[in-house]
Amino acid sequence: MNANFLQTPIDYLKGVGPNRADLLKKELGIHTFQDLLNLFPNRYLDRTQYYKIAQLQQTNAEVQIIGKITHIKTVEQKRGKRLVATFIDETGSIELVWFRGQKWIRENLKLNVPYVIFGKTNYFNNSFSMPHPEMELLDAHEKSIRSAMQPVYPSTEKLGNSGITNRVINGLMQQLFLESKNAFAETLSKPLLEQLKLVSKKEALFNIHFPKSQAHLARAQYRLKFEELFYIQLQLIRKNLLHKSKIKGYPFDKIGHNFNTFFSEYLPFDLTEAQKRVIKEIRNDLGSNAQMNRLLQGDVGSGKTIVALMSILIAIDNGFQACLMAPTEILSVQHYNSLVEMCKRLNTSIELLTGSTKTSKRREIHEKLENGELDILIGTHALLEDKVKFKNLGLAIVDEQHRFGVEQRSKLWHKNEYPPHVLVMTATPIPRTLAMSVYGDLDISIIDELPPGRKDIKTVHRFDANRLKVFRFIRDEISKGRQVYIVYPLIQESETMDYKDLMDGYESIVREFPMPNYQVSIVHGQMKSSDKEYEMNRFIKGETQIMVATTVIEVGVNVPNASVMIIESAERFGLSQLHQLRGRVGRGAEQSYCILMTSHKLSADAKTRLETMVRTSDGFEIAEVDLKLRGPGDMMGTQQSGVLNLRIADIIKDSEILKIARSYAMQVLKEDPNLTSEENSPIKNNYAQLVKYRNIWNYIS
Ligand code: ADP
Ligand code: MG
Repeated sequence: MNANFLQTPIDYLKGVGPNRADLLKKELGIHTFQDLLNLFPNRYLDRTQYYKIAQLQQTNAEVQIIGKITHIKTVEQKRGKRLVATFIDETGSIELVWFRGQKWIRENLKLNVPYVIFGKTNYFNNSFSMPHPEMELLDAHEKSIRSAMQPVYPSTEKLGNSGITNRVINGLMQQLFLESKNAFAETLSKPLLEQLKLVSKKEALFNIHFPKSQAHLARAQYRLKFEELFYIQLQLIRKNLLHKSKIKGYPFDKIGHNFNTFFSEYLPFDLTEAQKRVIKEIRNDLGSNAQMNRLLQGDVGSGKTIVALMSILIAIDNGFQACLMAPTEILSVQHYNSLVEMCKRLNTSIELLTGSTKTSKRREIHEKLENGELDILIGTHALLEDKVKFKNLGLAIVDEQHRFGVEQRSKLWHKNEYPPHVLVMTATPIPRTLAMSVYGDLDISIIDELPPGRKDIKTVHRFDANRLKVFRFIRDEISKGRQVYIVYPLIQESETMDYKDLMDGYESIVREFPMPNYQVSIVHGQMKSSDKEYEMNRFIKGETQIMVATTVIEVGVNVPNASVMIIESAERFGLSQLHQLRGRVGRGAEQSYCILMTSHKLSADAKTRLETMVRTSDGFEIAEVDLKLRGPGDMMGTQQSGVLNLRIADIIKDSEILKIARSYAMQVLKEDPNLTSEENSPIKNNYAQLVKYRNIWNYIS
């Protein structure tokens, strides 16, 4: 089949006039024969099974029964007449009911002749009935060639109302197969088909639309899911390889004075194996001619900061500047302080630039950046302002990547003549399968090990009614010298209410923990940033014992002496947020606690979230649960990616196929990067088609 046939406008298919063509385009995005062919059914009505009346269950969706009609009567009701037939088989009887078209049915139904009926059943007063069944004489049924598994295609209200029913789509599909004679080109290579025992493209397409049996359908689905995921991975991996060969980066081939001195003399602790491995991965990237584009995933507290610092030192040793961007002022300040501390005996210059940097200081920083006096710039979004011009930015590190859009990331790249190397750090573990699809074109490093001696954080769920006990616990911990966070939810939609809750909570805490024995800090988003910083610093220095806050403290803040995290209305937080918040404690030597406070009213999902938090502290496990609960659409970082417009595969359910598809895509490209071999020609052709007709770009932004 030549490819042009499939690009024929849908208007030219027999049975599709201008009106239908218009609707198909608008409602289902079907412009060509190819688009129709790729309209895969949502589900199938299984007409391979025949039920006996005695087997019927209240939970049955649609059932098919063989039997006969023994009796028909019209029942008069206040609201109109209905036609009722008694339908029996050898195990029992049900009622068939019609509200419309009664005259025609009455005249045409045959009594005491075997029929096959199909439809949904209702259960009422101990008996089953079936309204408006599909009916066919058993005789005709046995002779019909229609497939036993009936596809149900995606549809819209408008299509249905305009007479483009499922039956019509089905008919168009038959017409398409008739005209094409099912001569669809193979799109995978022979070795792939053989190694994975995949059915041919032809067979898969036929059976996805007209399956003969469940088994045929399953093979067709597997093949098409594999193909879909394979081409996405092929695209992502090619993009990555291309990027590496095309986008030059500054090769940092020296490991010099700063790095070596820091490593041999000032390292504040032994690096974990995971940290060593990741630093090595980054060193390799930086030393090559290609621009680094790497995602560093590591749970809260896994020690990403030191990895960032050592990467920065490599840049400086090679004569370049580096920047580190964080999503909040507080976090930037903390990064700044810890880098200044760690670098104090090195000969490096570090500055902090945020929204609240004074104009004079700002001007000084701009100047020092441009003339190259400044080595390291740390800050917030302020780093992205046009006035910020580096002399030679060699490395840009972005902490907590999900707070920044891709757009902003790439803006950083163009600060300089050549793009700097980019390291994106995130504490929100992304399940592997999702990372493969969303960030498949990035390289990924993972710190999967916490520094030694870290105690597990004891996590419990308590109902609001037990608040007094919780207060007693807080008092005990404070008397041992510990500090406590109390966090309130804040979501935009109910901001006013949330602030009221926060302030009420704060007042009751102050009443419960009065001065001068206790000092309570409060930090929230409506405060001036200088006030926030002041309060935060009092807590960091240990001048206050309790920090009441909204989620502004969620990201990155490090107060090792804080050992209790209380989360109010915990049912309102998402799993990844709960996990992030819990990560604020457990940073010191003491046993830490996380207390999740809720009311008694909990949804099933909320219960699962709370149970998961109590059960595990493994960020990847939590991310998997989160993915299952929320679906990939709401996961961090996937919103912009469009990766979810999959036609047949499902990122969660088909993660095994995804892994296989990725590894085969890698293998194919490794052996034949440009797909020039004879055996890969089907892949090359199909890939070109996908790119040409922008089919694959729907997936990847
Ligand atoms: P995160 O990955 O959340 O940014 P940090 O870099 O803030 O984690 O590290 C958390 C804490 O663990 C810091 O106090 C840091 O000094 C400490 N830390 C990091 N790596 C190690 C290590 N290898 N051994 C001991 N402590 C470490
Ligand atoms: Mg951090």
